[in-house]
Amino acid sequence: MTNTDKTVIAFDADDTLWPNEHYFREGEQQIIKLLERYYPGEDLLDKLYQQEIKNLHVFGYGAKGFALSMIESLIELSDGKVTGQEIQQVIEIGKMIMSSPIELISGVTETIEALRGYPLMIITKGDLFDQESKIARSGLADNFKMIEIVSEKDDATYLRLLKKYHIAPENFWMVGNSLKSDILPVAHIGAHAVHIPHETTWVHEMVSDKHASAYNYHELSTISELPALIKREVEREIQKNRSVS
Ligand SMILES: [Mg+2]
Repeated sequence: MTNTDKTVIAFDADDTLWPNEHYFREGEQQIIKLLERYYPGEDLLDKLYQQEIKNLHVFGYGAKGFALSMIESLIELSDGKVTGQEIQQVIEIGKMIMSSPIELISGVTETIEALRGYPLMIITKGDLFDQESKIARSGLADNFKMIEIVSEKDDATYLRLLKKYHIAPENFWMVGNSLKSDILPVAHIGAHAVHIPHETTWVHEMVSDKHASAYNYHELSTISELPALIKREVEREIQKNRSVS
């Protein structure tokens, strides 16, 4: 058995398999409309973002933490004048995000089908209930041998998962839209990372081009290009192993 028989392909979920971020940004715009009557500053969006980041270590990622942070911002920026009805509106926005339809990104179904010979995995971060619900609603769950919902995607998380499933870094592929969460930590531990940018990226997930350029990873414009890339790279690995032995 060559190393390449052990290839495992992992996918991020939000904005890699289905769109997600734009629901948050739409919700944010509705909250800004609520807040404008209380807070005239130009820096409203930044204020909301700062509140979210401040609360990340308490609430974690996801729509519930987002809604709670927005309520807190609304209370603070309105000097406590916000009404119960307005708070209810923020809760409704949170519910809207959590129950938004799961529509697969173009090419996802065919790509998963083309790669079904490999053990496939989902690694997503966020609220357990929210993420489980989205995976179930996507109709894709049966295609994945392993599903991991984690609170953070960093070097330590990836190393822990590789150890748990006995996967060597050189046999592990991670596919995702976030350089910060899906790509750079994976490249850093010596595994393969495939970046497929999505139209909307949360500021928290952004990294500078200069920082990213220090890492070795693949970049594709659509997920449909993935099977060909994996085939090419796995075959190249086989050739390399043959020439060594
Ligand atoms: Mg993502």
